[in-house]
Amino acid sequence: MIHFVGAGCGAADLITVRGQRLLREADVIIYAGSLVNPALLDDAKESAKIYNSAEMTLEEVLSVMFDAERQGLMTVRLHTGDPCLYGAIREQMDALEKQGIAYDYTPGVSSFCGAAAALNMEYTLPDVSQSVVITRMAGRTPVPERESVRAFAAHKATMVLFLSTGLLEKTQAELIAGGYEPDTPAAIVYKATWPDERTYLCTVSTLAACAKKNEVKKTALIIVGDTVRQSGYARSELYNPAFSTEFRPAKE
Ligand code: SAH
Repeated sequence: MIHFVGAGCGAADLITVRGQRLLREADVIIYAGSLVNPALLDDAKESAKIYNSAEMTLEEVLSVMFDAERQGLMTVRLHTGDPCLYGAIREQMDALEKQGIAYDYTPGVSSFCGAAAALNMEYTLPDVSQSVVITRMAGRTPVPERESVRAFAAHKATMVLFLSTGLLEKTQAELIAGGYEPDTPAAIVYKATWPDERTYLCTVSTLAACAKKNEVKKTALIIVGDTVRQSGYARSELYNPAFSTEFRPAKE
C-alpha cells in the first residue's frame, strides 16, 4: 500500500502523529527533497529504502512505487506541507488507481498555516476580511486568466501567494492594478517553522524591494491584505457575552 503523507512545512515535530507512525513503519520512502526537512528521515527504519523525488520524474517515482508494491512493501510518499496544495498528487493517485494499487492520504500542516504562526496572525478578522485567497503567480505552470492575481485583488481579501517570490515586481504591480492600495500591509515569510525562519513586514508597493534587500529568493510566502496589520477588527460574536450559542447561554 502507498501512503501519501503531508510532512508539514518545516519543523520536524510538526508532522502528524499518524504521519510519523507511517514513516517509522515504511519500507520505502519517497520524499520531496527540495522542501521536506531531512530530519524527518531520522525516524525511518534502518532497512528503509529512501528516494529523493526532487531528482526524479513522475515515471521514476511511479516505478519505485510499483516495484515496492510487487514486493509487498509499504511505501510512504512524503510531500511538503499538505499535499493538497501544489503537490502534484492527483497524477500519482490516478496512476495507482489504474494499476489497482491501494493508497491513502494523511494531511499535513501547510506552509500557509506555518506562515500565520510565524506572524502570530489570524487571517480572518471580523470587519477586516473573512476570506483567504490562496493562489500563485503564473510561472511555467499557467494560471487560468479568470483567477489571475489581478482578478482576485479586486476583493481586497487576505491573500497568500505561493511560488511567487521570484516574480515580485510583477506581483506587486498586479496586486495594485487589481485593487489593493499601494500601502496595503504585506508580509514575506521565509522558511516558516524552519530553524532559520525569517519574517518581514512591508507594504504591497515595497514587496519586491523588501525581498531584494533581505535576499529572499525562494521558499517564501507572500501575505497581503489589511488583516496583516492585525488591528481595527471587531471582537468575535462567538465569545461575546451578549450572544447565545449552542453551548452557552447569553450572560446579559
Ligand atoms: N504543499 C505545500 C506547498 C508546495 S509549493 C504546502 O502545503 O505548503 C512550494 C511553495 O510553497 C514554495 O515555493 C513556497 O512558496 C511555499 N512554501 C513551502 N514551504 C514553505 C515554508 N516553510 N515557508 C514559506 N513558504 C513555503
